[in-house]
Amino acid sequence: MSIYWNGRVQNLSPYVPGEQPRDRKFIKLNTNENPYPPSPRVIGAISNTIAAGKSAFGAEAAGARLRLYPDPACTELREAIAARYKVKPEQVFAGNGSDEVLAFAFAAFFESAAGTGSAAPDAAAGANAAAALPVLFPDITYSFYPVYAGLWDVPFRALPLGEDFSIGVDDYTIPCGGVIFPNPNAPTGLALPLSSILSIAEAQRKNNSVVIVDEAYIAFANTPGVESAVPCINDHPNLLTVHTLSKSASLAGLRIGFAIGNEELIEGLCRIRDSFNSYTLDRLALAGAAAAVSDAPYYDNINRRVIATRDRVSAALSAQGFDVVPSSANFIFVRFPNKTGEEAFAALREKGILVRHFNKKRIAEYLRVSIGTDAEMDSFLSACEKITGAANYTN
Ligand code: PMP
Repeated sequence: MSIYWNGRVQNLSPYVPGEQPRDRKFIKLNTNENPYPPSPRVIGAISNTIAAGKSAFGAEAAGARLRLYPDPACTELREAIAARYKVKPEQVFAGNGSDEVLAFAFAAFFESAAGTGSAAPDAAAGANAAAALPVLFPDITYSFYPVYAGLWDVPFRALPLGEDFSIGVDDYTIPCGGVIFPNPNAPTGLALPLSSILSIAEAQRKNNSVVIVDEAYIAFANTPGVESAVPCINDHPNLLTVHTLSKSASLAGLRIGFAIGNEELIEGLCRIRDSFNSYTLDRLALAGAAAAVSDAPYYDNINRRVIATRDRVSAALSAQGFDVVPSSANFIFVRFPNKTGEEAFAALREKGILVRHFNKKRIAEYLRVSIGTDAEMDSFLSACEKITGAANYTN
C-alpha cells in the first residue's frame, strides 16, 4: 500500500502468473506452454534467415526497419489469420497476448458499475449504473477474469460449476451483462460442445449481451462435438472468439493473441486499443505470428503429439487410482489418491517437476499438469508412482 496509489490501484487484486524459474532446471509443467519448438518458418521470419523474397512475412523484421513503428493495424497478420480461419480481415483483431485481447474485451463490451464514464450527464451515468447487470463466468475458471472485472469495475457473478466441474449451460442464458468462459475451461480441461455455446449465444443475443468464448486450448480438443465457434460468427453477431498463439503455436514468448468476431465487435476492440496504445504488437511479433498461422501442417502435427501424450498419461494415472478430469486441453487436472494438493505439489517440486496448484475452495486437492514431451511425462509418471507408492502397497 502506498499513499501515492489512487483508489483504483489500492483496490486491485492482480493476477499471479505461474512461476518462471531461473535458478534451477525444472521439468516445467506449470504454465501450459507447448513442449515442442515453434515452426522453423517463425524463426526464419523473425531472424531473416529466410531471404527476403522467399519469405512472405517479415522481410527485415529484425533488421534496420526496427527504427520504424510497426503497422498499427497488424494488416499482414490479420490477413494471414483471415485466410486460415476463412473470415474477413475486418473480423480479426490482434493483440499482445490473448490476455490483452481479453482485457480490451472486458473494457469494450461489459458495462462498468459506474456507467460508461463518457461525457454523459451525471443523471445518465446514474441510470447506467442501475442498469449494469453482472457479467457471468464460472467460479472455477481462468483467474484473470475477475481481475479484469476489478480493473474496469465491471460487476460479475461467478456461477458454481457442477459437482463434476461441468458448466451448467442454462445458468448462462439468463439476462446478464455478458458471458465469458474458456472452452475448454481452465484449469479443469472440460469442454462444452459447440451446440451449447451457440444456445448461450442465441439467448444472450436477445439481451444484446456479448458472449466471449476464450478458445486458448481448442486446438487440443478431440472430443466429437467440441469445436471452435469461429465458423458461427456470421450467424451470431454477439459471439466473440478469443485465441492465443502461446499454447497451440508454441509462441508464449512472442505474446500474440487475437479475436475473431463480427466487424462491430472488432471495431469496439480497436477503439479501446487506440485509446490505450496504438502499437501493441512489435515488428518481430507480427512477422513471427503471420508465419505461424500460415504453417498449419507443422502445428497440427505437434499438437496431435501433445493430445496423444495427454491421453496416454491420463489413462496411466487413472489406472493408478488418480482422479483425472477428462481433458480437451494441453493440461490435465488431477487429484492424487493419498496426498493433498499441497503435499503433491511440494513432493513433485522436490523431484524437480513444477506443476500448478490453486489454493482455492473445491480445487485445492487438484494439480494442473501441463503436457510435456513423452520423456518429460514419463519422468512425471514415475515421480507420481514414487510419491503415492506407500499407499499403493496398503491399498
Ligand atoms: N485464456 C486462458 C484460459 C489461459 O489459460 C491463458 C493462459 N494463461 C490465456 C487466456 C492467456 O494467454 P496469452 O496471454 O499467453 O495469450
